[in-house]
Amino acid sequence: MATLLENWRNAAYGNGMNKTEQEALWQKYFTLEKGFYEKVLSDPKKVYEGSVKELAEQFGIEEFIFVGILDGIDDSLAGFHNPIDSMESDTKVKIQVDPEKLYYNMVEAKASWLYDLPQWNDILTEERRKELYKEQKKSGTVRREGKKLYPNDLCHCGSGKKYKKCCMRKDEEREKELSANE
Ligand SMILES: [Zn+2]
Repeated sequence: MATLLENWRNAAYGNGMNKTEQEALWQKYFTLEKGFYEKVLSDPKKVYEGSVKELAEQFGIEEFIFVGILDGIDDSLAGFHNPIDSMESDTKVKIQVDPEKLYYNMVEAKASWLYDLPQWNDILTEERRKELYKEQKKSGTVRREGKKLYPNDLCHCGSGKKYKKCCMRKDEEREKELSANE
């Protein structure tokens, strides 16, 4: 039997759905993921503990999609990992973020709609965020989270605009600004 993670990854990255269905799934995922991080970052020291099913309910996200979020956040936790490969509905999991790792990983995933959330202002200073941003860019690694975003796709930030008319511009401006400050 497929694990929860396999179910999620097969749907999200596999060939079981047509392009429109997969697009709709990712759009839904990005909206829920943003809401999830708004909540987590509003109280970043909070520890969430419970089964996969319980935490999905607590965050108001269907379990199928919540598994994708647990997958995405696993490298940003405060010194531990969840058993994402083998977990089932009743497996106990824990969420407590390491803010610096999380910020860095959001930059690596090019998720500006997440590392630009206003909640960050109270967690890391602007200076520290700039340092982490530069550090990540210098490392040269790019994390592929979710589906690749093309200029004509709907932006993942949920604005309803095309990426090229939305976060892509902000992303390019930021890169320019930071390289000018070197
Ligand atoms: Zn956007």
